[in-house]
Amino acid sequence: KLHNTILELKGNIRVFCRVRPLLPGENSSEEKSISYPTAMEFLGRGLELVQNGQKHSFTFDKVFMPEASQDDVFVEISQLVQSALDGYKVCVFAYGQTGSGKTYTMMGKPGIPEEKGLIPRCLEQIFQTKQSHQSQGWKYEMQVSMLEIYNEMIRDLLPSNRPNGAENGSAAKQYVIKHDPNGNTHVSDLTMVDVCSKREVSYLLKHASHSRSVGKTQMNEESSRSHFVFTMRISGVSESTGQQIHGVLNLIDLAGSERLSKSGSTGDRLKETQSINKSLSSLCDVIFALAKKEEYVPYRNSKLTYLLQPCLGGDSKTMMFVNISPDSSSSGESLCSLRFAARVN
Ligand code: ADP
Ligand code: MG
Repeated sequence: KLHNTILELKGNIRVFCRVRPLLPGENSSEEKSISYPTAMEFLGRGLELVQNGQKHSFTFDKVFMPEASQDDVFVEISQLVQSALDGYKVCVFAYGQTGSGKTYTMMGKPGIPEEKGLIPRCLEQIFQTKQSHQSQGWKYEMQVSMLEIYNEMIRDLLPSNRPNGAENGSAAKQYVIKHDPNGNTHVSDLTMVDVCSKREVSYLLKHASHSRSVGKTQMNEESSRSHFVFTMRISGVSESTGQQIHGVLNLIDLAGSERLSKSGSTGDRLKETQSINKSLSSLCDVIFALAKKEEYVPYRNSKLTYLLQPCLGGDSKTMMFVNISPDSSSSGESLCSLRFAARVN
């Protein structure tokens, strides 16, 4: 009952917390900083964190303990994936400090099937469902784009398919974001690829991950400083009834949420720090405003929230994973992440 009331209040926003296991070499001998309350109404939804002798309690729509498998996590979002195929706009975010398991949650460990993350599992489900709907007379068109946002700038991670488009072509790419009245987003110069199988998307994901790492080295960046945005658009039409659907699935691996020390930062690093802080806090503000059903939602304060505007709010569905490191040396950052989530929750 309690659960239902909270869900109703929050509309289409869910916040899940995932605590990763201790990694080899991480110290478990110190006092445990995280525990799971067992009282009935908190079972599976509560989390307690002790920092400097003080206990902080949080509740979520769901808490995944370190033992939770990738499949346990996917099961909880597979309905969201289904709703993208039914024509909803869906966003799934991974939020947390660097090293807390965001990329593991989203992508998983390459090459180990049980450890595949949400993105490959979503793709499997989408293409399976597509096949079964096709046999019932539905026709689908799907397109993907992959980009990252670094310092409030968009970088395309897929190869350009413009006819005369030399990669280092004359005109600099603008990546201007526009939303049309139907709730579709257009980003100028951004590569959108038509796909019809999981294999094609997997290939593009590999390409994206490669362009990510190359870009990083060239620009002297760290991978934890940019947001990765995977978008799949799904258009379907029923041949018998003419019914149409237009769904969007966005899967976002956010930049590390750690508080970057301002004192030592100068020049580029300071700018970077400020833009990460700005976009994460703007995201928080938007989700908070939506959760509270406020009239004014400040989408325009960052590239990320502006890009995703049509997919945040309205009848769209949002899920946020707050990833937490269990070691006590991370408890300060963990507390920050949990508080961030508590604001939304
Ligand atoms: P982030 O993307 O937040 O910086 P990663 O996803 O790279 O963090 O995770 C950091 C390390 O922890 C990686 O070596 C990853 O494989 C491991 N890891 C994260 N979550 C889990 C998990 N649930 N189970 C096992 N290993 C994990
Ligand atoms: Mg990562």
